[in-house]
Amino acid sequence: MAEVLIENLKKSFGSVEVLKDIDLTVEDGGFVVLVGPSGCGKSTLLRAIAGLEPVSGGTITIGGRKVNDLAPAQREIAMVFQSYALYPHMDVAANMGFGLKFAGTPKAEIEARVAEAARILQLEPLLKRRPRELSGGQRQRVAIGRAIVRKPQVFLFDEPLSNLDAALRINTRVEIARLHKLLAATIVYVTHDQVEAMTLADKIVVMNQGRIEQQGKPLDLYYRPANLFVAGFIGSPA
Ligand code: ADP
Ligand code: MG
Repeated sequence: MAEVLIENLKKSFGSVEVLKDIDLTVEDGGFVVLVGPSGCGKSTLLRAIAGLEPVSGGTITIGGRKVNDLAPAQREIAMVFQSYALYPHMDVAANMGFGLKFAGTPKAEIEARVAEAARILQLEPLLKRRPRELSGGQRQRVAIGRAIVRKPQVFLFDEPLSNLDAALRINTRVEIARLHKLLAATIVYVTHDQVEAMTLADKIVVMNQGRIEQQGKPLDLYYRPANLFVAGFIGSPA
């Protein structure tokens, strides 16, 4: 796995500055959670790290390698979205292996990696099913499996649980925490759910209008929010 280093990152859409001088370090094996109001730039930051969005300034370094000019596929990153579009006509195994097949990975290697991911995610009994035969939570696990098989250096999650009902959200959250430990993964995770942020993060980053308001350990932000804005997001009600 790898450290992610973001320095002076800027992003504008036309004349609108959406990310303003973002400085952020995600340690190797770290779990950083981004929170902040809708439109503050969380998804744009993730997409910039993934290489899906060209940046206007600054640098992104992953595992000691500057990746600004690298295509998404060369960044060794996997992204899991809120809407986990699976291919309806392919079974679970084919859905998980598709990216590898596309990249020209040999068939035996694909089968081995899909089998391993299925074991980790307890998807083995479901490998021959089509997406329509799965529950929402199972589909989201397939989407996570699709990320795992690529053995990325870094996982990026953009509100992965927000389409799930409350009970499944808790189960899947626990599952993600388990995966983080098991895979020793480096994770950047966006959520608008305080509980998710407090329980998953080793560092929470509070964003507001394209800037970082405060970053730190969950309990530090909870007990010592830098301002009312941060307090409103994760501060103690005291
Ligand atoms: P968040 O994920 O925190 O809700 P986003 O990163 O999606 O926020 O969006 C940040 C800002 O950038 C918003 O004002 C949004 O309207 C704008 N934005 C996002 N994507 C584009 C785009 N492709 N073109 C123009 N503006 C965009
Ligand atoms: Mg978003």
